[in-house]
Amino acid sequence: MKISWRTVLLWILPILFIGFFLWQGTFATATSTIGNNTASTRMTYGRFLEYLDTNRVISVDLYESGRTAIVQAVDPELENRIQRLRVDLPSNSPDLIAKLRDSNISFDIHPLRNDGAIWGLLGNLIFPFLLIAALFFLFRRSSNIPGGPGQAMSFGKSRARFQMEAKTGITFDDVAGIDEAKEELQEVVTFLKQPERFTAVGAKIPKGVLLVGPPGTGKTLLAKAIAGEAGVPFFSISGSEFVEMFVGVGASRVRDLFKKAKENAPCLIFIDEIDAVGRQRGAGIGGGNDEREQTLNQLLTEMDGFEGNTGIIIIAATNRPDVLDSALMRPGRFDRQVIVDAPDFKGRIGILDVHARNKKLAPEVSIEAIARRTPGFSGADLANLMNEAAILTARRRKEAITMLEVDDAVDRVVAGMEGTPLVDSKSKRLIAYHEVGHAIVGTLLKDHDPVQKVTLIPRGQAQGLTWFTPNEEQGLTTKAQLLARISGALGGRAAEEEIFGYDEVTTGAGGDLQQVAEMARQMVTRFGMSDLGPLSLESPGGEVFLGGGLMNRVEYSEKVATRIDDQVRGIVEHAHQIAKQIMRENREVIDRLVDLLIERETINGEEFRQIVAEYTHVPEKEQFVPQL
Ligand code: ADP
Ligand code: MG
Ligand code: ZN
Repeated sequence: MKISWRTVLLWILPILFIGFFLWQGTFATATSTIGNNTASTRMTYGRFLEYLDTNRVISVDLYESGRTAIVQAVDPELENRIQRLRVDLPSNSPDLIAKLRDSNISFDIHPLRNDGAIWGLLGNLIFPFLLIAALFFLFRRSSNIPGGPGQAMSFGKSRARFQMEAKTGITFDDVAGIDEAKEELQEVVTFLKQPERFTAVGAKIPKGVLLVGPPGTGKTLLAKAIAGEAGVPFFSISGSEFVEMFVGVGASRVRDLFKKAKENAPCLIFIDEIDAVGRQRGAGIGGGNDEREQTLNQLLTEMDGFEGNTGIIIIAATNRPDVLDSALMRPGRFDRQVIVDAPDFKGRIGILDVHARNKKLAPEVSIEAIARRTPGFSGADLANLMNEAAILTARRRKEAITMLEVDDAVDRVVAGMEGTPLVDSKSKRLIAYHEVGHAIVGTLLKDHDPVQKVTLIPRGQAQGLTWFTPNEEQGLTTKAQLLARISGALGGRAAEEEIFGYDEVTTGAGGDLQQVAEMARQMVTRFGMSDLGPLSLESPGGEVFLGGGLMNRVEYSEKVATRIDDQVRGIVEHAHQIAKQIMRENREVIDRLVDLLIERETINGEEFRQIVAEYTHVPEKEQFVPQL
């Protein structure tokens, strides 16, 4: 719906006028009351004279230049109760005062209440005044908009959606673990700080830099650090804030933003989530989106509109560079791309150091150990982790963060909130067998990641959890490793089947089976690890609504589809047999581990391996030790 000022006025005017008359009415009655001495009962003048003659009057107060009197009198008919009565006096009764004096009655004359009159006057004036002021304001506002009154309210203009920070206070020291990106961007700092150095030799300063990387890797932080290092203002807006329901609003925001930036040059403009506006035009379901396209066009126009040497540098961030419109990437726009990737082991140490700076760590806490426990964590995850650890420490009323809190915080960040453990029951026993099933397959298969711990303490959705220490840094995964992982994931279900029988298996393995299916299918269709040979039959699909093609090309025939299904089933069946066999051959140690787990809720990997080693051979695992 379009709300125009005209509609608003049509409503406000009647309301104001009604209010005006009500207000007037109140004051009209208020000014005519007589002091606080309003007597409710009236008495005739004749009766008043009669009362005077019979000495029943105690006192008389005269108001309104002697035209009204409030009389206190006793009433013998009502057991001599004192009454307050109001009498209207004739306009000319000069002998009344003499009479009152003669009868020795106390009397007083009250002047007109002038202050009341003044307030009344003001009151009468206030509403018209407000009305005029309101009208003036409304008309002024609406005439601000091109096209005059009756236009849609000025959304784009009046609400500044971008933030401006004069000083971000963030430096490159606060950013760790992404050294390549930092190095690349060091140059941008120089562009902002000493543009002369480049212009002197005729170089054109680039306008835009695109930061590409998964969420939480420090893109926003990096942009702020650039502004901080260069000591220039930081303008930021999120791509999603450009996109509004009203066509043209986003474009006007872009104009506003650039206008403000030009006034404050040199400065840095940061556009977060640029994929929200910068998506390939005309792609996806339902054709183009007028508003988004207009906004994007405006952005492109603005970027072309200023010379490279005005001291404005635009940094945009996205985690989906593949969906961006190619016009954005043209030279003269975001022609520089800087990859901001998830940190590796060394990077994590750096980031943890940054976030440990303002925290109190117990001396035995090793940043390295934390970094080793957190493969795949982004910078934001690590910041969150350190904060969770500090919160836990405070909750436990400890002096400093110990490894215990850090470990709990890792579990919490990865798997969610801790729940209360189940009481010993059949279902707890079943969960224990399920988890020990995962863990023992993981321990006995040479190519599986080693067990870190097994626990029955529920977290998030899971009733029990087996943690493995992944061998992250080597990057590539072998076929043997994938097969071992599939067996390990099936270990839980295999244990349920072997110990409780096929009829007793539970829904608890649902998540495991999903992973298994995914891994097995990818082995066949993407990695060429089956009898079908080295064929890539599926590409990692792009979602159609993010700008990918509407139809993902099916890259194989019906016949091949059947063969894929057969291969996938074959892989899963084989892995399942391996897992079941491990259960059958190790029943004794499994029973012992389950009893221990139910008693203690958690067994760590080292102890787990030692117990298993008492019964059977535990293969030595190639564990990658990160180098500093
Ligand atoms: P992105 O914009 O890439 O999604 P942010 O820059 O918003 O990520 O990161 C969120 C928070 O995570 C930062 O405020 C910071 O505390 C922390 N963080 C992320 N990456 C790093 C890093 N490389 N070094 C230090 N802290 C980081
Ligand atoms: Mg961000
Ligand atoms: Zn499981």
